[in-house]
Amino acid sequence: MCSSIPTIIPLPIPEQELKELVSKGKDWAIMHGVSMRTKEQFSEDTITFAPFVLFPSTMPKKDFQHAVELQTIFQELFHKVAYDREFLKMCLENIVQVDEFTAKLFEIYETTEKEGVSQSIGLGLFRCDYMLQCNDKRKDGSDDFYPFCNWKLIEINTIAAGFGWLGPASGLLHRYILQEMNQLDNIKNLPVNNALTGLCGGILEAWELYGNSSAVILILVEDITYNISDQKFHEYTLKEMNPSIRIIRRNLTQIYYNGELNEENELIIDNNIVGVVYFRTGYEPSQYPTENEWSARLLLERSKAIKCPNLQYHLAGTKKVQQELSKPGAIERFINDEKKVKLIRNVFVNIYGLEFDESGEEAVRLALEDPERYILKPQREGGGHNIYGKRIRQYIDKLKNTKERIAWILMEKIFPPIIKGYMIRPGTEHPPPITDMVSELGIFGVIMGDSTRIISNRQVGHMLRTKVESADEGGVAAGLGALDSPYLID
Ligand code: ADP
Ligand code: MG
Repeated sequence: MCSSIPTIIPLPIPEQELKELVSKGKDWAIMHGVSMRTKEQFSEDTITFAPFVLFPSTMPKKDFQHAVELQTIFQELFHKVAYDREFLKMCLENIVQVDEFTAKLFEIYETTEKEGVSQSIGLGLFRCDYMLQCNDKRKDGSDDFYPFCNWKLIEINTIAAGFGWLGPASGLLHRYILQEMNQLDNIKNLPVNNALTGLCGGILEAWELYGNSSAVILILVEDITYNISDQKFHEYTLKEMNPSIRIIRRNLTQIYYNGELNEENELIIDNNIVGVVYFRTGYEPSQYPTENEWSARLLLERSKAIKCPNLQYHLAGTKKVQQELSKPGAIERFINDEKKVKLIRNVFVNIYGLEFDESGEEAVRLALEDPERYILKPQREGGGHNIYGKRIRQYIDKLKNTKERIAWILMEKIFPPIIKGYMIRPGTEHPPPITDMVSELGIFGVIMGDSTRIISNRQVGHMLRTKVESADEGGVAAGLGALDSPYLID
């Protein structure tokens, strides 16, 4: 495990100063939309600030830049994967035998392919998540470990990748905190982050391509939205960027009852023609409580509306596809440029499938032998589904003789450098303790295209999430994670 990375100022800071900064930070967060709805005592009438780290986390500029540069390469790769029917089928054909959720998605994919798709263009607002993997070996005993860290990809999110607002907003919060600390000269180390306008720009570009000035944008939402500010700021920004467009929010159940297709397969919801559907739901079994919601998804996929994401982008983001891509030679099927292949390959850790073959048996053996070195993942998104640490052993013991095991992948665990800091969460006592934390950087991008061409492919911004080092997952709303932003150092 790595030692700590440098903090922006020596810790601890004097208690009175800490108290004031925490209080100022919370107020700023609440009053600027760095906020969420609470799960406890949920009410549409209240929001609370989203957990945040008081100071931004230092990160070498060159590493940050490197992650930024990888984005369009990854997007090209996943676009091509998504439009390669044979490859998607090869990745998922066994899983659909044992995993009902993936099977249902795949069935809709097959149905619409067979019928002939009404909309060949897909819009992706993707987010690649990385952690720095540090190498234990340090040159001549120095504490300077940064040169020995490299990014490793945790996953690529192709559906409902959130924090397009909370990412940039965290940078603005930190900017305010640095101002209050009178560190004006250091504000320049917080990189510009235009994720929100970048992502909304992608949605608007798709809307224009749809080519009907009276068409609406549909934001497909959960029954209850906790991450409300993140979603709403997308809506407000879309409106600011083009005030004439009508934006509607609906859940899958409402689509079932109020949605239909006209003769041209245009999607009509409550008398509105929908040009673009932006999914902030639809990636988890619980979001399809009955067959009605599945019918709604089929209706959307059959329609001519441009989907963000379309079903093949969604499927390309499954953990299984990422595992298949980590096999030797797999990336080369899609990317000819050797340099790009190498860049992608360098950020992959080992990922194993759990098929009943030699490699699957090897994975079972590795997991049982040293579970702390791996993470066991099913084909799910949205947090809370993976198995960590010692529980992997029990789980594998239970799974190993069942056919269900093939729906899981085993991923090598990444051990990022530790940063010390203050994590501020609603309802916690004062003063906050100095906590050991680790960060996960997300890079956002927009891609649009079809099977023959990529129309747009750009990186648009970033987000940083930091969690308690000992926590398995760093969900900001649910878990032990907090909003953060990078502070770039040379
Ligand atoms: P989900 O789709 O549910 O977000 P992820 O693959 O992103 O699933 O995993 C959830 C969290 O688990 C990540 O945000 C990260 O904190 C942790 N995690 C996942 N994979 C790894 C890994 N290989 N090494 C270290 N931590 C990981
Ligand atoms: Mg994730």
